[in-house]
Amino acid sequence: MDKSLRKTILAGNWKMNKTRPEAKALIEGIKPLAENADCEVVICVPFTNLETAVEMTKGTNIKVGAENVHFEKSGAFTGEISADMLTEIGVEYVIIGHSERRQYFGETDETVNKRTKAALAAGLKPIVCVGELLWERECGITEEVVARQIKLDLFNISAEDVKKTVIAYEPVWAIGTGKVATSEQAEEVCKLIRDTLAKLYSQDVANAVTIQYGGSMNPANCEELLAQYDVDGGLIGGASLKADQFGVLIAAASK
Ligand code: PEP
Repeated sequence: MDKSLRKTILAGNWKMNKTRPEAKALIEGIKPLAENADCEVVICVPFTNLETAVEMTKGTNIKVGAENVHFEKSGAFTGEISADMLTEIGVEYVIIGHSERRQYFGETDETVNKRTKAALAAGLKPIVCVGELLWERECGITEEVVARQIKLDLFNISAEDVKKTVIAYEPVWAIGTGKVATSEQAEEVCKLIRDTLAKLYSQDVANAVTIQYGGSMNPANCEELLAQYDVDGGLIGGASLKADQFGVLIAAASK
């Protein structure tokens, strides 16, 4: 299998950062750095910046993503946003099941599965986040934890739809901590995810799925992580908030 047959995707996760003027300045900074990218560049921004981001990236190769989506089409769900609301304004991607949603907002594998199905049904490309806690790694159960998340999060999702789904392997202990997984650790779990997909679907399907690494990826460590055979890009928090740093990552993912 030629790695280049899969799409390499570099996605920024802005989390709860950037007012509209700040977002505009950051997007202006990223635009020229993404111009010649040989990978898909995505910026996942807070709901209040989505329309601005879509507007400002028209005619560029930068795609826009949301950071969450609700699974119901509409109704009495105060504070939530539906998949149709996102596609209607031109959003193409959505992060689902980020560890911060799981940790602080009660997200479970069941709701991740429901959100993923709703996103796919509306034509959004989900970026489904999985990853073990430090305690789980120390107990030696990383493989079980991640394989279980994959099985539950993708439950009853067709092979066609899973090919449109991006998986982000994000060890929870590496997110926003400055503690990055070694390239061997990242490759080991990304490969495990691909093997799990092969068992659930087929090797062809598994080979077609983009699997990102996320967790303190930065200009100093990105080359080695992105060079791994089963690592097809990254989900980037902190380093996506500074255009120059994100630019270095875009260049590394384009190699
Ligand atoms: C993330 O939030 O998905 C992430 C990987 O954050 P950071 O790069 O800051 O660790």
